[in-house]
Amino acid sequence: MIDQAFIAAVRAHVGDEGIVSDPLELLTYECDGLPHLKQTPPLVCLPSSAEHVQEVVRLCYRHDVPFVARGHGSGLSGGAMPIAGGVVIGLARLNRVLDVDIPNRRVTVEPGVTNLEITRQVAPHGFYYAPDPSSQQVCSIGGNVAENSGGAHCLKYGFTVHHVLSVEAVLSNGDLVHLDSSIADAPGPDLLGVLIGSEGTLAIVTKVTVRILRKPEAVMTLLAAYDDIPSAGAAVSDIIAAGIIPAAVEIMDGVSLIAVEAAVHPNFPPAEAILIVELDGPVAEVREQFEQVEAICHRAGASVVEIAKTEEHRARIWKGRKGAFASMGRVTPNYYVQDGVVPRTKLPEVLDRIRQLEKRCGLRIASTPADR
Ligand SMILES: Cc1cc2nc3c(=O)[nH]c(=O)nc-3n(C[C@H](O)[C@H](O)[C@H](O)COP(=O)(O)OP(=O)(O)OC[C@H]3O[C@@H](n4cnc5c(N)ncnc54)[C@H](O)[C@@H]3O)c2cc1C
Repeated sequence: MIDQAFIAAVRAHVGDEGIVSDPLELLTYECDGLPHLKQTPPLVCLPSSAEHVQEVVRLCYRHDVPFVARGHGSGLSGGAMPIAGGVVIGLARLNRVLDVDIPNRRVTVEPGVTNLEITRQVAPHGFYYAPDPSSQQVCSIGGNVAENSGGAHCLKYGFTVHHVLSVEAVLSNGDLVHLDSSIADAPGPDLLGVLIGSEGTLAIVTKVTVRILRKPEAVMTLLAAYDDIPSAGAAVSDIIAAGIIPAAVEIMDGVSLIAVEAAVHPNFPPAEAILIVELDGPVAEVREQFEQVEAICHRAGASVVEIAKTEEHRARIWKGRKGAFASMGRVTPNYYVQDGVVPRTKLPEVLDRIRQLEKRCGLRIASTPADR
């Protein structure tokens, strides 16, 4: 139970600046990106080192106080929502980049470092960090590890689990463990694989080493506009059926397009559906496959096919796509998010059925299918 003795013991380790107990300030921590589930915590700790995390967890263990880890609170599934009567352990102050090792293509960071910061650190050397959730400007690497986050480019490059080489983590009794996958096919159970995606239920991650990739020689991006979403879905199936693995394939429907245009002004052509396809790799391969993709998009009925001619143009297209979810507030004060998985070949049929349901139920539904 949280009592004055417990709070004093926590304060002795993390200091006054590492404690949030003011009722107004605690409201910041009452939910994550799933705001209709709320629970105001009695106490938030903001440790600034792994040792602090260990001490706070040990105290919780001894005093039988439940706790939940929190990165930057952008999760959409309530994972960082406080437990009634429990402590929130916020990792935002563990935000140091510990090592940028270009020759060995790895970067070691504390969990509060944002996803995009890793790419910022290595971009001058011609490298990047592949997992790119749409929230990458704000979400933490610790949160990415806990949620096994992916993004637009995970069709070709995989999820967080495919890019984490090792972690340091604090177990529920305060012990510090190191889990490593840098040796391929090491004997024994894949504990790192178990931890990644465990939503903070197994341990608090205090250090992460990730693999970085060399920027591809060429990147080409196109945007195709359609009069209906099933046609865009059919183009996706045809691209994959042609044996092409794009770096990213994403669709946005009419409602999403209204929202992003209002919020981030990507200046997309008028359409009921927009398909974004990005190819990357060696120049010769990308050029050849890109021609095929362009032809497939036209065959599927595209009214406009726009090719990103400059890096700014490409960035604008992605700003529009990555801003889709956060822009929904422009078209509605309230919305409910559903993430689902459908077989690629069933996509046109499923999207068509969603449209029928929308009419039948009188609800507006925004769809942003992505190929993973
Ligand atoms: C606009 C928007 C777009 C998004 N787009 C994507 C997307 O494209 N792809 C995607 O996968 N997700 C997406 N998300 C969801 C979210 O950003 C990710 O799940 C992200 O990884 C959460 O990181 P966070 O730092 O905000 O974690 P939080 O929300 O703070 O926590 C998420 C979970 O991780 C646990 N956790 C946090 N830090 C640690 C730690 N150090 N050790 C152990 N457990 C920890 C928490 O207990 C909780 O269970 C999006 C969210 C928003 C709001």
